[in-house]
Amino acid sequence: MELLKRLYAINSKSGSEAAIKKLVLRELASVECTIEEDDSGNLFITKGEAECYPGVTAHLDEVHEPVCRSIVTEGDMVYGLDVEGHRVGIGADDKNGLWVILKLLRAMPVLKAVLFVEEEKTTIDGEEVAGCRGSRACSLSAFDDVRYLLAIDRKGSADVVTKSKGGVVLCDESFLPEDVLAEYGYKCVEGGRTDVTALRERGLTIPCCNISCGYYNAHKSDEYTLFSQLEHTLRFVAALIERL
Ligand SMILES: [Zn+2]
Repeated sequence: MELLKRLYAINSKSGSEAAIKKLVLRELASVECTIEEDDSGNLFITKGEAECYPGVTAHLDEVHEPVCRSIVTEGDMVYGLDVEGHRVGIGADDKNGLWVILKLLRAMPVLKAVLFVEEEKTTIDGEEVAGCRGSRACSLSAFDDVRYLLAIDRKGSADVVTKSKGGVVLCDESFLPEDVLAEYGYKCVEGGRTDVTALRERGLTIPCCNISCGYYNAHKSDEYTLFSQLEHTLRFVAALIERL
């Protein structure tokens, strides 16, 4: 919970990911891994030696404007308040994905993690700019030694997005072991665009999907996380990686 609160306390509006990257690098200082940054600012983290790695991804940015926010826990629920006590978004979309990945990088002997910048749509000089800018600009050859890519960037607690709205297939549902889905209470669904959609559109052929990680009301001031669901996501993703 302490790490999650530190992630939420940092604002990482799209294009301003320096502070959140600094926290990620500090967290990984005690983990034996290599970290590379591409020209767009995306981070590629490799742990262990393998011919072909299990892959996970999340995005570093959030939609919320920088305001001073305190992080409040009420039972299982985690949310943000500004200095006047009004609810503010915490960027749980997609700090929750970052939290899971930081935990996995500690626990798993072999893993490749890609943390993208600028996944969210934004406005630059008054102009609407499409999202997935980091994943649309990165080199696809970075995935040559990756078997599959699990995005951890979906609202709620029980979805694995295997097809994006607009018809982009992320993976064949048979890729996901039915017994693991059933044991953890997840099901395959169609869902919104995220980085793995952009990568598949660009021609990435490895199986991808996007997994629920316990956040609700994303992009809104009343955004919140149910912490037990986030912990459940970590166990589910670890179980998938063990199997796949
Ligand atoms: Zn997101």
